[in-house]
Amino acid sequence: MSCQHAFTEKLATFRPNEEDKEALRQFLMQLMHTLLENDLSKDMAVLTTKMTTKRSYYKPLKEDGTPAHFLKATPKTRLDFCTKCGICATHCPMGAISFENFYEIIGTCIKCQACVQSCLAKAKYFDDADFLSHVAMLEKNYQKPKENTFWLANTL
Ligand code: SF4
Ligand code: SF4
Repeated sequence: MSCQHAFTEKLATFRPNEEDKEALRQFLMQLMHTLLENDLSKDMAVLTTKMTTKRSYYKPLKEDGTPAHFLKATPKTRLDFCTKCGICATHCPMGAISFENFYEIIGTCIKCQACVQSCLAKAKYFDDADFLSHVAMLEKNYQKPKENTFWLANTL
């Protein structure tokens, strides 16, 4: 389901919205109907086949169209803003922010922006040039709202 982009609040702002949630409800209704009316294993095979279409690995680009290299980028901290509340470390899904020193990155950062978005003091930020250029490229080229696409994972 479409949702606000992790890198920027300017893309898909406030999504999922009510329309998106309704689309999900419709999908679930359709799925339940299909599973109740038909043979489960046959349907799962068809649905799984549809979702295994291979795509090439995503390569981020900068504004000028050249590759953006920001694998090693990590968030910085404005020391004069930071209140040492620890919310950023609590919200980091990778456990990458040290609880002893909230300015220190001790694990793998996936650039999810959870620390930036959760910091009430606006102390966390990214300044990596390639990352910022990639975000600018996304904001420039991906303004058009996306339709929802639903996948079903075969866990049987
Ligand atoms: S959430 Fe912000 S203010 Fe709190 S410790 Fe982290 S950087 Fe500092
Ligand atoms: S961007 Fe995400 S992964 Fe990286 S330090 Fe912040 S919360 Fe953790």
